[in-house]
Amino acid sequence: MKIHEHQAKQILREFNIPVPKGQECFAIDEAVNAAEDIGGKIWVVKAQIHAGGRGKGGGVKVANSISEVKEFASQILGMQLITHQTSADGQKVRRLLVEEGVEIEKEYYLGLVVDRASQKVCVMASSEGGMEIEKVAEETPEKIHKVLVNPEGGLSHEDSLMLAENIGIPRLALESAANVLQQLYKCYWETDATLVEINPLVLTKDDKIIALDAKMNFDDNALSRQSMVNSMRDFSEEDEAEIEASKHDLSYISLEGNIGCMVNGAGLAMATMDTIKLFGAEPANFLDVGGGATAEKVTEAFKLMLQNPRLKAILVNIFGGIMQCDVIAEGVVTAARQVELDVPLVVRMKGTNEEVGKQILANSGLPIISANNMSDAAQKVVDAIKGAA
Ligand code: GDP
Ligand code: MN
Repeated sequence: MKIHEHQAKQILREFNIPVPKGQECFAIDEAVNAAEDIGGKIWVVKAQIHAGGRGKGGGVKVANSISEVKEFASQILGMQLITHQTSADGQKVRRLLVEEGVEIEKEYYLGLVVDRASQKVCVMASSEGGMEIEKVAEETPEKIHKVLVNPEGGLSHEDSLMLAENIGIPRLALESAANVLQQLYKCYWETDATLVEINPLVLTKDDKIIALDAKMNFDDNALSRQSMVNSMRDFSEEDEAEIEASKHDLSYISLEGNIGCMVNGAGLAMATMDTIKLFGAEPANFLDVGGGATAEKVTEAFKLMLQNPRLKAILVNIFGGIMQCDVIAEGVVTAARQVELDVPLVVRMKGTNEEVGKQILANSGLPIISANNMSDAAQKVVDAIKGAA
């Protein structure tokens, strides 16, 4: 689960990590009032969306007067913000964060993620703050310093100091930077985060260390014991189809292509998407209907895929193990009738009661294209969208 920057900063405050004074706002007047409450001479108006790279997209602006706060708030609020982390259509800005402006001496980068190879939390720090860390990793990997943390002891003060020194934090601020690192690790651990990123962490002109930006993602499976985090969920930032899918216990992820996929099993679903790509097309979604898919579940799955305006064809790929092919075939036929399917449908099924299943599809009178194996299925669905185009 993702949260907004202002929420992540609220969590950081609880862990005594310094962040700028700020207030979230949903209207222009609110933004002006917030700036007046905060006081000072410089403010920053920041779009709150579940994606980074907002600065480059025009979603972060430094204001030198209250009238500029008003101007920037009206520009940003409601805009369709496009960044390298959003889809090509961008994301609508529904809320802002207005903060006191900070005078920056230098920007740094801090990040915490799980390193799967060592099965430990990896704490990363770099002198190259404010930039896309992916670029730093590619071009100057030696500028990213890492510590793999032993879960029993947590991040030690020694390791924190070493990281702070390695990225060139000046002597005067070393101790506070090391404290931020240790608190950040504690925060990561105690909130069941999967990612914490502070980009930039800044050294101010008066030698203070402040988290100027904050990104946090959390483990969905831990939300039941993270009530504060859970209460921060913002459904308006999430994909409608994915929210709908979770209500029906379907595992669904929206993608950018035009071939809908309905598959049982996550691994087979991944392999199906790979095969579609191999044949030169793009999947519209990931969809795992699970092991015990009923006719109702299959119908819901079809409805979800059909809501996508980009959809050009559907590929159903089923392995009949626990699930029997005839049951799935009944489900597909019922669903296709109910939703008045108007795009080509290719079905590949293998396993228990395969022949009966194929017979049901053939006898349905529906224009279902039957496939014998995965590459045959991918070829047929790709041909079908070419025919439709
Ligand atoms: P992102 O683009 O989504 O990562 O948003 P950030 O919160 O990282 O802001 C982008 C950039 O805006 C930062 O790297 C800073 O250079 C600048 N910025 C943000 N807040 C302040 C501030 O208080 N003062 C100044 N001078 N610049 C700021
Ligand atoms: Mn940032």
